[in-house]
Amino acid sequence: MSDDASQVSGLTAQAAQAAAQSLTDHSRAQLEQVVAAARAVLDGSAGHVADDAVRTALAAALSEADQALAGTVAPARAATLGASVSTAAAQVAQAQQAWQAAQTAAAQAAAQAAVRARAAASPTPTSSVDPCRTTYTGPPFWTSVPTATGDGSNGNLPASSMTALSWTTDSHGTRFYLLTPAAQALEKLNVAFRAAFGHNLDIDLAYRDYATQVAMRAALGTVAAVPGTSPHGYGKAIDVPELPCEYGWSSVQRAWLLAHGPSFGWVQPAWALQNGSGPEYWHYEYTG
Ligand SMILES: [Zn+2]
Repeated sequence: MSDDASQVSGLTAQAAQAAAQSLTDHSRAQLEQVVAAARAVLDGSAGHVADDAVRTALAAALSEADQALAGTVAPARAATLGASVSTAAAQVAQAQQAWQAAQTAAAQAAAQAAVRARAAASPTPTSSVDPCRTTYTGPPFWTSVPTATGDGSNGNLPASSMTALSWTTDSHGTRFYLLTPAAQALEKLNVAFRAAFGHNLDIDLAYRDYATQVAMRAALGTVAAVPGTSPHGYGKAIDVPELPCEYGWSSVQRAWLLAHGPSFGWVQPAWALQNGSGPEYWHYEYTG
């Protein structure tokens, strides 16, 4: 071997050693990264896995990797240790995910149980709406007054033919007018009603002039009579308030009115009955 050859041989050996060292350093750095990441998994999973065996296994793999890192780590050895640590860390991470999912499910179950418990303790009312509230949902209308020059047609009655009820007015202070014989009969009915119930008969509407009937028809549709045909326009009808608890189908007041009204000439027409063509528990007419 010449000097040159020896020199080359030496350089080659140095290069090979350097290459091997570089490879070892590279493997070592990779293992250190794996170990650091796995240690974070181990630390973060404390108390957050159902069975600590996976953490014990990871701790053992890390311990072995630590020992290897304390000395020179051959690439093959580093690869094996890195794989072991990675696998153990993955199992811990999986166990931690399962633990967290179980925690979430338990929390949801607890929340649902609490909701059910509250519902059982205080059942939701079937209806929060006042059953005695008025059944009228349209715009307000008020009773009408007769005119001096009324021609006697529907909704155009003269004052001379009408009498106001003595005991009540509408919310505008307007007196309730009816055709005089109808008013006189209702006065007598009211005396009997008051004797029975301790208060006057409530009136919501009585006479209705033609213009008001036109407005009602426009606002309410077929619930209101065709203008010119309503018995209110003849001064022969009243509406009691649309209060179901006071005057509704099953109320004692309505039962009384149906039982005693006819003797005073006041009835609920067939069409207004509950099974009639246009049920209106509040509507009564004078037939006397
Ligand atoms: Zn009516």
